[in-house]
Amino acid sequence: MQDKTKYLLDESEMPKAWYNIQADLKVPVPPVLHPGTLKPIGPDDLAPLFPREIILQEVSTEREIEIPGPVQEIYKLWRPAPLYRAHRLEKALGTLAKIFYKYEGVSPAGSHKPNTAVPQAFYNAAEGVKRLTTETGAGQWGTSLSFAGQIFNLEILVFQVRVSYDQKPYRRAVMETYGARCLPSPSNETEYGRKVLAERPDHPGSLGIAISEAVELAVQRDDTKYALGSVLNHVLMHQTIVGLEVIKQLEMADVYPDVIVGCTGGGSNFGGIAFPFIGQGLRGGKMPRIVAVEPAACPSLTRGKYAYDFGDTGHMTPLTKMHTLGSSFTPPGFHAGGLRYHGMAPLVSHVKELNLIEAVAYNQVECFAAGVLFARAEGIVPAPEANHAIKGAIEEALRCKREGRSETIVFNLCGHGHFDMTSYQKYFAGELTDESYDEAELAMALSGLPSVS
Ligand SMILES: *Cc1c(COP(=O)(O)O)cnc(C)c1O
Repeated sequence: MQDKTKYLLDESEMPKAWYNIQADLKVPVPPVLHPGTLKPIGPDDLAPLFPREIILQEVSTEREIEIPGPVQEIYKLWRPAPLYRAHRLEKALGTLAKIFYKYEGVSPAGSHKPNTAVPQAFYNAAEGVKRLTTETGAGQWGTSLSFAGQIFNLEILVFQVRVSYDQKPYRRAVMETYGARCLPSPSNETEYGRKVLAERPDHPGSLGIAISEAVELAVQRDDTKYALGSVLNHVLMHQTIVGLEVIKQLEMADVYPDVIVGCTGGGSNFGGIAFPFIGQGLRGGKMPRIVAVEPAACPSLTRGKYAYDFGDTGHMTPLTKMHTLGSSFTPPGFHAGGLRYHGMAPLVSHVKELNLIEAVAYNQVECFAAGVLFARAEGIVPAPEANHAIKGAIEEALRCKREGRSETIVFNLCGHGHFDMTSYQKYFAGELTDESYDEAELAMALSGLPSVS
């Protein structure tokens, strides 16, 4: 056994296919429904939004889907990503547990999101699409798609949630550096945006509203399609390159994980690290415990209902069965912007229902405390979203300490926090609070779920 700090793969060892968990699920994920007819949708229904290859991937039951050569070439700008053993964090905690983390902050955008932005841009360009619209909250997805778009000569239009647009000018500057156009949402450029602004001119925006605006523009023009950075099956599949690399890296370390931890916003970085391991378990191998960590202020897996719901506020998307807080739910303004979404990926929701994963929720102040402890031990300043995974991993390591166990814990450090330093400043100034959502608003949002028999 090699007891190292860093486990690096060669470029030639980078996985050449993504893993599709749909191949190994004995109970298939419930179908996506047309919002009008409530019947399962077919490929033609999605054609205005996505290129054909992406639609096929969305419903594929092939176990392995080959990563196109040009996508592999771009991946190699930062992949394979390193896996670290957190020796110094282990010491700081006084735990017998071995803690490993996969670091996705080495990508150009500083998070896992380019893993799907690059193939999405590639497939669109290959099918003749000229322009992609999308939404972004904190800006990580918009940045990633802007980067991928310029590689494949696509025009990128990003609707950024108004509060983030105002509060995070550097993210916008990065998107513009990559050549994208970025608009605050709600905007005056769509019918839905104008409707929202008419009701409330100072609306702070939300991911659900920005999705509605991006979708509206995509369906209007033949040369324009839409790209989503999380939630959908193909997005989670593209992210499995993370877990597939981790499997090889843990072999180098000669260990198998007892616990895998990831943070969940829409579920993509979590699915990315967890699904290849769940797949091994479903095919008869060892099944680790898998823990999803979500923010207590937007707790779709732990407090949401497993039901059919819209992906957006304007009700333009198809209906998917997922853990949801209701499409009209607006979470309080906590700092992990990437985790402020009302729903959860249908595939993550499905494996939760099958009891293949667990879920816990933590508040933002305790997550920042975990992130600061991690930064001081390991040197990397994590994204506020990633702090949730760190908090989850630390809790597991402290449990091992209490129980005198030396388990192996692996978590996904999905991004760095270099554009989130305002939130760290607030944490150090004691200005961060644990805002809870309004129970009455949640009840109202859940009572408004579409009725599907
Ligand atoms: C977008 C983002 C998330 C949340 O999205 P998932 O699909 O749940 O992964 C988490 N962490 C970072 C760093 C992000 O950029």
